[in-house]
Amino acid sequence: MTQSFASLTLPAAQLENLAELGYASMTPVQAAALPAILEGRDVRAQAKTGSGKTAAFGIGLLQQIDVTQFTTQALVLCPTRELADQVSKELRRLARFTQNIKILTLCGGQPISHQLDSLVHAPHIVVGTPGRIQEHLRKKSVNLDAMKVLVLDEADRMLDMGFADAIDDVISYTPTSRQTLLFSATYPQGIERISARIQREPVNIETGDVS
Ligand code: ADP
Ligand code: MG
Repeated sequence: MTQSFASLTLPAAQLENLAELGYASMTPVQAAALPAILEGRDVRAQAKTGSGKTAAFGIGLLQQIDVTQFTTQALVLCPTRELADQVSKELRRLARFTQNIKILTLCGGQPISHQLDSLVHAPHIVVGTPGRIQEHLRKKSVNLDAMKVLVLDEADRMLDMGFADAIDDVISYTPTSRQTLLFSATYPQGIERISARIQREPVNIETGDVS
């Protein structure tokens, strides 16, 4: 059964944008996760690669961004620069209906001085790798006091890569009132442990097709 994005409470401009992107109906993980995300619930979702997880959290987090506030309101953590770039690209497509939204990618392996220049005005959304985000938080070049949504994308891979401590450190800079979304392709035990530590009564979604 396919479900239309129109069954969600989304602005008409976003529904039009999704149609223009050729997103005719929700993928299973989107249909399962988006209603809970739009209600403000914490969600942990497991679905195979290519199942549309970026739009599942992306459409949700974009609803929370107030572009008139020049503060960082959402943070997406990814395991690698390539994945962070892909997520930023997809978020920009999903945000085409929103004027003046600033999305910044912050990863290691790029000069920090350029990143500091880009951070003179706070981006609404930061996408990046845990180590580099941690560095910016310590330097106070990124401030998460007004952050509403935290996403751990490819959480299984981030744990594999040994980012658990860096993630915990990043989280210590975020408000406890935040919404926390955890997405992964597989479901190792470590995911449940980190979820128990950082999420509040999460809605658990498994779409069945394990990678
Ligand atoms: P995942 O993170 O689960 O590996 P992605 O978010 O990268 O998957 O999405 C995979 C591809 O599917 C992307 O090219 C994306 O643009 C496309 N996509 C996402 N949602 C939809 C949809 N509802 N309809 C059609 N294509 C979609
Ligand atoms: Mg993905």
